[in-house]
Amino acid sequence: QAREAYSSEMLRYMPVGLVVVGPVGNIEFVNHQFEVMTGWEQSDVQDESALWRHLCVDAQQHATLLQRLNIGRCEVVPTGVNMPAMEYQLRSKSGQELTMEVSGRFLGGRILLSFVDVTQRKAAEAEIRWLGFYDNLTQLPNRRLLLDRLSEALTRSQRGHAGRGALLLLDIDNFKSLNETLGHQHGDALLRLVATRLSNCIAGRHTLARQGGDEFAVVLEDLPTDALEAGRYTEQMGRSILEALRTPFYLGNQDFHVTVSMGAVMFCGAGDSVEELLKRADLALYQAKSAGRDTLQFFDPSMQKAVSARVEMEKDMRLALERHEFDLFFQPQVQRDKVIGAEALLRWKHPTKGFIPPGVFVPTAEESGLILPLGEWVLYAACRQLAHWAQNPALAELTMSVNVSPRQFYQPNFVEQVQQALQVTGAKPSLLELELTEGMLLTDVEDTIQKMVQLKGIGVMFSLDDFGTGYSSLSYLKRLPLDKLKIDQSFVREVVTSTNDAAIARSIIALGNSLGLQVIAEGVETEAQRVFLAKNGCSYWQGFYFSRPQPAAEFEAWAHAYGAEGKALSEAG
Ligand code: C2E
Ligand code: CA
Ligand code: CA
Repeated sequence: QAREAYSSEMLRYMPVGLVVVGPVGNIEFVNHQFEVMTGWEQSDVQDESALWRHLCVDAQQHATLLQRLNIGRCEVVPTGVNMPAMEYQLRSKSGQELTMEVSGRFLGGRILLSFVDVTQRKAAEAEIRWLGFYDNLTQLPNRRLLLDRLSEALTRSQRGHAGRGALLLLDIDNFKSLNETLGHQHGDALLRLVATRLSNCIAGRHTLARQGGDEFAVVLEDLPTDALEAGRYTEQMGRSILEALRTPFYLGNQDFHVTVSMGAVMFCGAGDSVEELLKRADLALYQAKSAGRDTLQFFDPSMQKAVSARVEMEKDMRLALERHEFDLFFQPQVQRDKVIGAEALLRWKHPTKGFIPPGVFVPTAEESGLILPLGEWVLYAACRQLAHWAQNPALAELTMSVNVSPRQFYQPNFVEQVQQALQVTGAKPSLLELELTEGMLLTDVEDTIQKMVQLKGIGVMFSLDDFGTGYSSLSYLKRLPLDKLKIDQSFVREVVTSTNDAAIARSIIALGNSLGLQVIAEGVETEAQRVFLAKNGCSYWQGFYFSRPQPAAEFEAWAHAYGAEGKALSEAG
């Protein structure tokens, strides 16, 4: 008797929650500890479904629990078999989240469920894990996690699953003296603020970590496979960091200017180790410091050179825009003996480097975004020229082709920009022709079509430049409201010597005709090429055979002469 009493007391007060589920799912017994832990009393949980409904946080977990219990309930499972302990996220009556280890023991139709509360242990474990991998001050990954991520990134890039990567080390310039003037408390606050600004620059798969002290590190992943492009991306990231820190930090009633120095090293595939990378990035960082701080320095000298040249050119280009060093040249487009228009081609007259061709600076302008002001300038200059020609009867009908860069075209207000250029200059919209390339049309076909349709609505024409080099799929060509195809000069060059290029040129002409588009050949340099094209049904031409691109005045003189000569020719025969 006494023994029964004390074992029932023991059941009630043992530090494990116990619930006995009866053969028909009724709850036969709930011990005191269960009630204390969960807040649910026996009267709340009359049957099993009420029990789990109360306890389970999500339906998924509810389902797996029931499934496991039902397996145990099958008759084939002999008495005494255990349902092994598993962790579940449960909820107390007051709504508190509990991590519980739940195990079951099957006793002839009954299930003895035991509940052990491991919430605190779990929280402590998470805390330890956090402390081990995260920095307490900034909440960023710490050096240990950085090494981890770096080695993972290296492995990934070695296996060829991802593109290139880069490691950037950065260090706040003069932090020591700042820290001394500010006091340590403000010094800490500054580090936290810097961390926040940095994390706003770094998104996606990239990792920002605090190495310790005033040193931060960034691991960039999934960079382009092309080394130079990856370098440029890294450089851009570095610059956006320098930029983000330009705004002073406000601390203790004072503004503080903070700059950082950065060392970068690129990695890709085999041959690099984490230690080696850190060493190189550190060396580059040291060079950045000695180069005068507030800069980014690459470990790889050739990368540094390529990137510096680009930075230099960008700086020059900004100045060039202000100093009006850009100019437009015009190359005639002819139809047999008639000048019908001109293509505006950008020229940069650099004060010391002389003339720089667009093939050199347009890609950099694209990448840096400078193409936007530059492209706008081209648009206005070309329209001004059109308006000027309108006053001269001999030139009034000429069309003007303007090259449009992808980035320029993708601007949400591109249509308005063109409209405005036309309006401000008074140029006739139907004489303006925009040259697009195939690649840029495929990025967002719907948006492209919409923009083109809007501009066509006011009379602007479209020509597809460098045709034949891109994706040339009929299905999209048919959908785009184009006026003209431009056979790429690479096919024209060999059109009389290569049967392959001749065939391509012929099929482009046929394609254009079938779609009701004008076809113009560019890069016509010889009489033989011109004759071939004419014979094959293409009588719109542009190229050195007629004229090189020239300044406006020369172009106008040329057009007058060609017109006269052309008339003479046609009168003669
Ligand atoms: P593109 O649009 O294909 O321009 C034709 C290029 O071929 C021009 O080079 C022109 O001078 C050259 N060319 C013309 N006829 C002949 C010929 O008979 N033989 C040979 N070998 N070449 C010929 P350019 O002026 O150096 O322009 C190069 C590229 O720069 C252009 O290629 C265009 O993609 C880009 N570009 C030029 N101006 C602008 C502009 O204002 N905006 C943008 N976004 N890009 C421009
Ligand atoms: Ca062009
Ligand atoms: Ca072209």
